[in-house]
Amino acid sequence: MPKYVFVTGGVVSSVGKGVLAASLGLLLEYRGLKVAMMKLDPYINVDPGTMNPYEHGEVFVTDDGAETDLDLGHYQRFTHAHLSQKSNVTTGGIYNAVIQKERRGEYLGKTVQVIPHITDEIKSRIRMLTTEENSDVDIAIIEIGGTVGDIESQPFLEAIRQFKLEVGTRECCYVHVTLVPYIEAAGELKTKPTQHSVRALRDIGIQPNVIVCRTGSHKLGVDQRRKVALFCDVSDNAIISAEDITPFYAIPLNLKNQGLDDTVLELLDIEAPEGDLSEWRTIVDRLISATEVVRIAAVGKYVSHNDAYKSINEAFVHAGIANECKVQLEWVDSECFEQGEDPEKVLADYDGVLIGPGFGSRGIEGKIKAVRYVRENKKPFFGICLGMQIAVIEMTRTCLGRPEANSTEFNTETPDPVVSLLTEQLGVQAMGGTMRLGAYRCELKAGTKVRAAYGQDVIGERHRHRYEFNNNYREPLEKAAGLVVSGIHPKIDHELVEIIELEDHPWFCASQFHPEFKSTPLNPQPLFRDFVKAALACRRERG
Ligand code: GLN
Repeated sequence: MPKYVFVTGGVVSSVGKGVLAASLGLLLEYRGLKVAMMKLDPYINVDPGTMNPYEHGEVFVTDDGAETDLDLGHYQRFTHAHLSQKSNVTTGGIYNAVIQKERRGEYLGKTVQVIPHITDEIKSRIRMLTTEENSDVDIAIIEIGGTVGDIESQPFLEAIRQFKLEVGTRECCYVHVTLVPYIEAAGELKTKPTQHSVRALRDIGIQPNVIVCRTGSHKLGVDQRRKVALFCDVSDNAIISAEDITPFYAIPLNLKNQGLDDTVLELLDIEAPEGDLSEWRTIVDRLISATEVVRIAAVGKYVSHNDAYKSINEAFVHAGIANECKVQLEWVDSECFEQGEDPEKVLADYDGVLIGPGFGSRGIEGKIKAVRYVRENKKPFFGICLGMQIAVIEMTRTCLGRPEANSTEFNTETPDPVVSLLTEQLGVQAMGGTMRLGAYRCELKAGTKVRAAYGQDVIGERHRHRYEFNNNYREPLEKAAGLVVSGIHPKIDHELVEIIELEDHPWFCASQFHPEFKSTPLNPQPLFRDFVKAALACRRERG
């Protein structure tokens, strides 16, 4: 039977519960345990797929096509946990299920209420996590989004309180991640907000077993540790000082130094051999010791939210580890090229150019100009999803002399729809969960750069888009632009173009899928790795 760790947050949001949960998962895996990871999100959206990444951070996609919260990306990068539709549940998803049951008559005669019906549904989702691929899991780590005290998180907190009653004391524990702010005027870390948030948790009936104090750039002193322990009724060794750590991937090492894994195992009455973290330490050492810097221009819409392209940023960190360099990703607003800025002037000093995923027509023409520059000037280029669509639009316009070529997403009337909707997408009206989502089989072509990067003939990468390359343009582009279709997804009556490259170019590669979702520090994604390698070569050549 699995045991459970519930991770809650206090005082403010964004204290890093997701990274804490992922780091704990990592430490437990190194001790030979199998973990499952789950995020319960209090918002009403049925899934985050309809939420704007520029406001809420990226939508992370699993193999089975779930559109999930970006914390699942942390779980993927730190652990080997199997992530699926079951790994992220929202209030909207819970209510949706309960209302459908009510309509089917499953509660016939009853008044349907938050307690027990909503809380029962939440508990059943938690139990469902450890079925099928996860049936042999030792520990399930469940993160509750939001902050204790939010109206919306209450049913989730109530459900995890009840959960302990059902499974027993040694079968689950509660880890509370909270902010301990440093007050400049007093020259001190203040524990009062933490005491209040623990009190709020206890009001609901949950006594935390471990308190992780996020202390910014300061360390929790002995006195403060004792104070938190005393006021919150938690033993000293279960108070963790989680100051900001760089590099980010060193966070688990800090937690290990304070014995977080030992404390949790003791609480859950599990004996496990000591873990050997040396491979993880090697990664951290490589991150610290890399000095050479590769500069990549990410040409796109202006993004103010740091996490809008979280997995891409991390995939570049991993590619840096693989190439023993630091990758500096710098945003270049594509609209500047529409306002007359010369791509040569803006992009010449970069070692490579990325065009990432995106929706909507703003900045598209500027991106097309940027692609033309890198294609003609043989600068390493990597396109992801929209990036591949932009690349084929540019080639069709320039190499086939079709100046109005476009995607029907941006111009429904274009005479040259080189990117368009597949018949199965034509009638789709609803926005939620209706794109091409999740992992698809992709067969790679022998002799291509992509095939060499992966070192295998068949791959499975994840998708999240509606529009596709239009096969009518394949042969003309192969002839006129040196286009090479490096990978396809076979269908009964036709092939879907999944990834392309150029023959006569040091590295011009673009995928319809999202390779960033499977990159981890231990297994850097091959396309990111080789793109950075090409950028490094470009940098050295330029001197
Ligand atoms: N907007 C494009 C589509 O829907 C690309 C999506 C993306 O980049 N993820 O096909």
